[in-house]
Amino acid sequence: MNALLLLRSHMNTLYALGTVFLVALALSALQISIPNVIPGFELLLFGWLGVALGRLTLGADGCTNGETADRSDRIDAILKSVAKLLQTQASDHEAYSERLNGANSRLSQQMDASPVRDIVLALIEDNRHMRNKLDHVRNQLEESRLQALQLRNNLERAEEAGMRDSVTQIGNRRFFDTSFAEELARSRRTGDPFCLALADLDRFKLVNDRFGHLVGDRLLRLFAEILAQNVRGQDRVARFGGEEFALMLPGASLKDAAAAAERIRQVLEAKQWTLGPTGEPVGTITASFGVAQLRPNETGDELIQRADERLYDAKAKGRNCVVADTAGPTPPTTRAPRPRRVANN
Ligand code: GH3
Ligand code: MG
Ligand code: MG
Repeated sequence: MNALLLLRSHMNTLYALGTVFLVALALSALQISIPNVIPGFELLLFGWLGVALGRLTLGADGCTNGETADRSDRIDAILKSVAKLLQTQASDHEAYSERLNGANSRLSQQMDASPVRDIVLALIEDNRHMRNKLDHVRNQLEESRLQALQLRNNLERAEEAGMRDSVTQIGNRRFFDTSFAEELARSRRTGDPFCLALADLDRFKLVNDRFGHLVGDRLLRLFAEILAQNVRGQDRVARFGGEEFALMLPGASLKDAAAAAERIRQVLEAKQWTLGPTGEPVGTITASFGVAQLRPNETGDELIQRADERLYDAKAKGRNCVVADTAGPTPPTTRAPRPRRVANN
């Protein structure tokens, strides 16, 4: 995960440096005209690019897919505006060439103006040379813009892969952390309710012990499928760690969220599991659920803690059940908080 973040932030840095390098190339091609037009123009342009790209590169860590795409869009916009600047310069050169050509044909009619005419011809030649260089830089810039777009697609794919749990193919803990923070922020902004349900497979260690870890993995994957198939479009499902899963339910009241958890519990309980090739019965697999609704001024950790405590209650009640938190404004003080479990993915 860290390697991915590192790669992503380094990609942005390389991208920024590449752009500055291209602009430097463009400016060196334009060195005859630009300093004469606007003194300090190069410094201004570099300063602007430095600030813009620096801002985009900093803070690359921890951003969501949407934010990455947004940054890439802004980098693309900067490259486009540099290309436009070069285009403007090219048009100016075109006009300048035409004026020089006009001067040349007028001078060719004056017999005594041949030294001046030689100078104008040399200027025409220099100008043509410069225009070729400018075209070359413009092509390079376009190529680099296309490469940047390709890079952006790759990064988005890599980022998506980095948020997927390899065993269950649903969102992993990093996906949970990112989505959870987004949903909390949204709920605080809009005032819409937000619920979290934590689900933990019952006596799963026994399943592993009896049928082996690979069968355990398959059951985890099938439970993840059941979760994903039994939630609404706006809900998000993630593997929280081990045999524990999280359901994020934006816009759901505590009652709705508890009902959703109960529905999933029943679907799981109704299944009769068998071993793939032999058809040997595994029996039923059940899960326990703890559900809590975000309270005003509550932190994300506090919400997770409450859902986790209710899950603990469900286990204590005999497992295979849903326990929802009370909807009151202050958390019930039933016991000292459980130590948070450490996620293993
Ligand atoms: P409880 O009902 O109290 O939750 O009992 P449990 O056996 O499910 O809980 P416990 O915490 O004792 O054991 C969790 C088990 O989950 C042990 C561990 O091997 C298994 N597990 C965790 N992650 C994976 C995984 O990725 N694949 C497999 N196959 N098993 C896993
Ligand atoms: Mg368990
Ligand atoms: Mg567990």
